[in-house]
Amino acid sequence: MAAYEYETHEYDVVVVGAGGAGLRATLGMAEQGLRTACVTKVFPTRSHTVAAQGGIAASLSNMGPDNWQWHMYDTVKGSDWLGDTDAMEYLAREAPKAVYELEHYGVPFSRTEEGKIYQRPFGGHTTEFGEGPPVQRTCAAADRTGHAILHTLYGQSLKNNAEFYIEYFAIDLIMSDDGVCQGVLCWKLDDGTMHLFSAKMVVLATGGYGRAYFSATSAHTCTGDGGGMAARAGLPLQDMEFVQFHPTGIYGSGCLITEGARGEGGYLTNSEGERFMERYAPTYKDLAPRDYVSRCMTMEIREGRGVGEGGDHIHLNLNHLPKEALAERLPGISESAKIFAGVDVNKEPIPVLPTVHYNMGGIPTNYFGEVLNPTAKDPNAVVPGLMAVGEAGCASVHGANRLGSNSLIDLVVFGRAAAIRAGEVVDRAAAIPAANSASLAKAFDRFDNVRHANGAEPTAELRLDMQKAMQADAAVFRTDKTLKEGVDKMTAIAGRMDDIQVTDRSLVWNSDLMETLELDNLMPNALATIVGAEARKESRGAHAHEDYSTRDDKNWRVHTISRIEGAKVELSHRPVITEPLSKESEGGISLKKIAPKERTF
Ligand SMILES: Cc1cc2nc3c(=O)[nH]c(=O)nc-3n(C[C@H](O)[C@H](O)[C@H](O)COP(=O)(O)OP(=O)(O)OC[C@H]3O[C@@H](n4cnc5c(N)ncnc54)[C@H](O)[C@@H]3O)c2cc1C
Repeated sequence: MAAYEYETHEYDVVVVGAGGAGLRATLGMAEQGLRTACVTKVFPTRSHTVAAQGGIAASLSNMGPDNWQWHMYDTVKGSDWLGDTDAMEYLAREAPKAVYELEHYGVPFSRTEEGKIYQRPFGGHTTEFGEGPPVQRTCAAADRTGHAILHTLYGQSLKNNAEFYIEYFAIDLIMSDDGVCQGVLCWKLDDGTMHLFSAKMVVLATGGYGRAYFSATSAHTCTGDGGGMAARAGLPLQDMEFVQFHPTGIYGSGCLITEGARGEGGYLTNSEGERFMERYAPTYKDLAPRDYVSRCMTMEIREGRGVGEGGDHIHLNLNHLPKEALAERLPGISESAKIFAGVDVNKEPIPVLPTVHYNMGGIPTNYFGEVLNPTAKDPNAVVPGLMAVGEAGCASVHGANRLGSNSLIDLVVFGRAAAIRAGEVVDRAAAIPAANSASLAKAFDRFDNVRHANGAEPTAELRLDMQKAMQADAAVFRTDKTLKEGVDKMTAIAGRMDDIQVTDRSLVWNSDLMETLELDNLMPNALATIVGAEARKESRGAHAHEDYSTRDDKNWRVHTISRIEGAKVELSHRPVITEPLSKESEGGISLKKIAPKERTF
């Protein structure tokens, strides 16, 4: 084993990640008196959740009639019938409670005249089981909702004595020979020391892997580290082929303009000045779900009606909205449009393009956040000692397509659920497990190998090749040909990891080493995405396959399970959970209501 000294820390629970999901889990664990550590590679309030603008969905009925059953129906339909029904019910039912908790913790939500939490319309959120008009369900703190949530949860976690290990980079999970997670090995970025966190429960809350693509709205830190660690521990990932493109990334920079902009009355136009969404989605127009709007925009551009010199983007118009409304409800995006597109939103349209935004897939879990290993002998058994929440996990509530504002609510509902579950399953009196020395040695050896990698492939070049291949071949529209090419390209690119070159060998603030470890995490995520997409011979949600243009529930209403080893991906399937948690007689939603049907808008 590579010779590194390390310090051991013992906790009941170690949460990896301090975004909305990690902080909500940390807070919930600490509130119950579990000794809890939160390890994070960036300062907590710099996690990508800070950038969430639009808001958080919950059927509070503050702006008109609403209920959790309608929210659940919209989530089922939004998922294109690939989400797990038990988890989707849990999400919609617990959402109001989770938002009121946030309010009581101190999140400064925008208010209505009477002082209630303000809610705005968002794509795909409707009334009357999709038969009624759009609903105002998305609770917002202006257009800085994630910012408000993150700061509040961090403060509350500190108040409850959770301990933070900030700028610690988690390298690998430590697993016992019989598959129990026993902790996580970390590298402290600012002084180069190594730290073993031994715990009875490890919670992965490491966020998404948007940076596998060239143009993404997500932060540079969104490198799928949790998925990478899980894959190296021999655990599979789920539904990775479903990648959400947000309709309105600023052309060029990819910086996000929230869907809340359309929620507040903004609309898209093509080069003829036509409000084209009225043609594609007569009922919901610009507020149809994201996968659908992104495809319509791409079709307009392909058919020669894109705007700009290259005819390669679309306009988002806000200039008809009152100046005061923009200043009050959308101050952040007005600023972004100025900085990243040089546009004054009061006067001109914003140039936008569908941009990679969210990963529906991730580490498979049940609706308590406990990690599942569907490739194990008992496919329903949980992996003891391991949970995954937030964008890193896949519960699965978003199925093939996530509705806007359903991620922030996913973070807090399942962060909270994981804490409740841990309160039940973590034995406070039990001893902290000693780390399996073989697993620890393997983690140190890999770290050491990357640190001393002496190949011919600079990290930045290999990363760019990966990002370009994913952008070109795992795109909004996919064909057998592009996907096949993508799989070949990505297999070759992943193979080149063996010849990676790291030039800086130090252990202190070594960004070259950190970025290489991140690339090593992005790679299995990217591979599983393209291989899963190539195998899925249908169109569903964000997976729009031109050679198989319809959804095929008979053969494909199944979760894709991928095990990744090096450049090889092995696929299998897991059935979708179609039973809700509560029966109709108990106030639940009827099976007939949520039976698959064509998704129209
Ligand atoms: C620009 C933008 C706007 C959005 N707006 C909305 C919105 O309005 N509404 C909505 O519902 N959703 C929105 N989303 C989606 C939503 O914000 C994200 O899905 C969500 O914030 C992810 O939260 P998370 O807690 O899972 O991870 P993140 O917030 O990404 O946090 C990940 C955490 O993991 C830590 N971490 C990662 N790897 C390691 C490692 N190796 N070692 C140690 N720590 C590690 C990081 O330090 C960080 O603390 C938006 C997304 C983007 C990109």
